[in-house]
Amino acid sequence: MMKNRDNKTPGEKMYKKLGVSEPVYAFGAEVEASLRERFDRVDEVVEYNQLKVLGAMQENRVSDIHFAASTGYGYNDLGRETLEAVYASVFQAEAALVRPQLTCGTHALAVALSANLRPGDELLSPVGKPYDTLEEVIGIRPSKGSLAEYGVRYRQVDLMEDGSFDYEGIRSAITDKTKMVTIQRSKGYQTRPTLSVDAIGELIAFIKSIRSDIICMVDNCYGEFVGTTEPTQVGADLCVGSLIKNPGGGLAPIGGYIVGKQEYIEQAAYRLTSPGLGREVGATLGVLGSFFQGLFLAPSVVGGALKGAIFAANVYERLGFLVSPDGAQPRHDIIQAVTFGAPEGVIAFCQGIQAAAPVDSYVVPEPWAMPGYDSDVIMAAGAFVSGSSIELSADGPIKPPYTVYFQGGLTWEHAKFGILMTLQRLLEAGMISRGQLEPSS
Ligand SMILES: *Cc1c(COP(=O)(O)O)cnc(C)c1O
Repeated sequence: MMKNRDNKTPGEKMYKKLGVSEPVYAFGAEVEASLRERFDRVDEVVEYNQLKVLGAMQENRVSDIHFAASTGYGYNDLGRETLEAVYASVFQAEAALVRPQLTCGTHALAVALSANLRPGDELLSPVGKPYDTLEEVIGIRPSKGSLAEYGVRYRQVDLMEDGSFDYEGIRSAITDKTKMVTIQRSKGYQTRPTLSVDAIGELIAFIKSIRSDIICMVDNCYGEFVGTTEPTQVGADLCVGSLIKNPGGGLAPIGGYIVGKQEYIEQAAYRLTSPGLGREVGATLGVLGSFFQGLFLAPSVVGGALKGAIFAANVYERLGFLVSPDGAQPRHDIIQAVTFGAPEGVIAFCQGIQAAAPVDSYVVPEPWAMPGYDSDVIMAAGAFVSGSSIELSADGPIKPPYTVYFQGGLTWEHAKFGILMTLQRLLEAGMISRGQLEPSS
């Protein structure tokens, strides 16, 4: 890049102007330079997925008439039907339900589960405790309207110490009442590893070998487009996620998706709207353009978020902090955990992410007693779409081991800037020293 008399590129000057000091910038540049090959592999996945999405749109003859708004009942919403056909094609599934009426990921999962389970049935999680909000959906924590209240029983088999499946435990947990299995791909906010799509395929094959009629559902949140295959391609009967995460590409203002076998998607539609109405109703109110365009951008947005996660892992690993996944491990979701061992680290990190935001950058987040958590929590989010976690965001509970969870970034450049701002804040808070940022050679 062109340098002028003070030996700085325009980019370096801009970083300085926005609050990133020279040693932080130089340290980031050194880490970034070491990641070229890794980033090339991310780009290859982005390229593949871009073509996959484009192909699905062409094959389904997407046209601008599909972006029109429907109102009222929303009968014959051609755009909605086409979008659902595009999703089915991207996921190589028989059918899809992609709606603004699916208010978030939790809701989409709750619909998929409650639609396909009946009183007396059993639900099994063979991968340990599910995501926090699912505990209430299932009724692991007593909750109004939970599956437990409707007489659905729940069993859980934890992963083995080394993160592998407890095949014997799973075999003995499957009974003649087991109707459905729920498999969470992402580790979420736990310490277990995220599952690869191949590992999910092996697990599903094992379950189907015991009873082929068990419905296998995958919670795909944060996993979409991270690799070149999705769980529906390795035997998942249902695959579920949120549009304010990966597949919405940052543009979808709301929504969830459920893809999979025709018969289970139909059940989900009757549960989402009403028996008798099913998928025929559900006005789209003008959001379809953003659903289509967000899906189109999603592969590239996810690629940027992945680079940000890989960069963060390598930056913080080099500084001696525990990171998960580590700097070299393959990725199956976009979440990065960094453990600071002290509350000041979590706080400085989140304040750095907030300071890097395009929206509400002037706000300084503080830990607070959020309902539903057993400790104070700090959250950083300066997003265009409220609560969107495909946008650059971070949060962490203020309790040992003081781990922060970081994800998103609509562009790699923004994710990089965010990580450099966290470093800047940690430096100012005395959590790292200038000496640690010195060049290694
Ligand atoms: C985010 C998430 C959910 C819930 O999605 P919301 O949109 O926040 O309701 C469920 N499971 C996993 C693994 C998630 O990451």
